[in-house]
Amino acid sequence: MVPFLDLKAVNRPYRDAIAQAMERVLDSGWYIMGQELTAFEKSWALYCGTKEAIGVANGLDALILILRAYGFDPGAEVIVPANTYIASILAISANQLTPVLAEPDPKTYNLDPNEIERLITPKTKAILVVHLYGQLADMAAINAIAQKHHLKVIEDCAQSHGALSPDGRRAGNLGDAAGFSFYPGKNLGALGDAGAVTTNDPELAERLRSLRNYGSHKKYYNEVKGVNSRLDELQAAVLAAKLPHLDPENQHRQARAAQYLAGIKNPLIELPQSGPKAGHVWHLFVIQTDERDRLAEYLKAKGIGTLVHYPVPPHQQKAYSEWKHLSFPITEAIHQRILSLPMGPCLSESETNQVIEALEAYR
Ligand SMILES: *Cc1c(COP(=O)(O)O)cnc(C)c1O
Repeated sequence: MVPFLDLKAVNRPYRDAIAQAMERVLDSGWYIMGQELTAFEKSWALYCGTKEAIGVANGLDALILILRAYGFDPGAEVIVPANTYIASILAISANQLTPVLAEPDPKTYNLDPNEIERLITPKTKAILVVHLYGQLADMAAINAIAQKHHLKVIEDCAQSHGALSPDGRRAGNLGDAAGFSFYPGKNLGALGDAGAVTTNDPELAERLRSLRNYGSHKKYYNEVKGVNSRLDELQAAVLAAKLPHLDPENQHRQARAAQYLAGIKNPLIELPQSGPKAGHVWHLFVIQTDERDRLAEYLKAKGIGTLVHYPVPPHQQKAYSEWKHLSFPITEAIHQRILSLPMGPCLSESETNQVIEALEAYR
């Protein structure tokens, strides 16, 4: 049996450190907006290489609040990949802004810079870049386009914690602001919901610190109409305990990905492609094949877990019925053909070989 991802096993090696952190919070008598949050925000900013990190309740809120903090006029357009997870797009809609869907590069699953240029109008205010499956998008090209057209670049880093760009900067430090999710299954995962924003813009950071806490810097004095989206002390303490293990875990993922890439030769299977210097932390290892459901069933019969990220593209979701007349052939083909293989910090070398052997025997 090779599970897709075993979260109990993921957290087991850190059980003592996590238990200690939780006890510290329990005994402190202070559970919201305290020193655990401040300490984690400092460590996260340091890790990402940014001036600021602001803890929030989850990854969706991180993106919603970044867009709100910029204060774009209603109806302003934000370019976003058409094949992203729904949260990237919901964050735009939630601010009464218009998501403009861009077909991805079918090889990297990430935004195609040429496609971005084609979609820019006088209403475009920002590009929401998603480093999908853990691989960095072509940030040099995207930032150049943004500069030329005076657009903000917002990174959705929910799947790319720690990914390094060719010039040695990390995900979250490659645009104007970035949203992270620490949902339990992400590369750095809490024991519940959690998220953060990173930025080098101190004014934006101050607006975000206010927005996440009822629009207030001082208790009971409200400057703007904010929300309650705070990263609580317990999750902050758990994240701080796990953070030192993020890089070694990402290296483990990279080793397993290299093993898959070298071992899978079956012509029925297309391997994920990464650029020559593309930073990739392999949140997911996503292959393509013509008969995806047949392959998933075949692997399931052999005790190998797989998932599809994601089965329905956003423009075909019921929630966005206003887009049902739209057609994105690249995105639609991707959603029909993709399959995520087992991947994670606990996937062993021999389990990976089991998956490879099963795939090589597939006809
Ligand atoms: C997980 C995820 C989010 C949302 O994060 P939550 O913490 O679940 O709100 C946003 N974007 C992408 C690409 C994700 O994978």
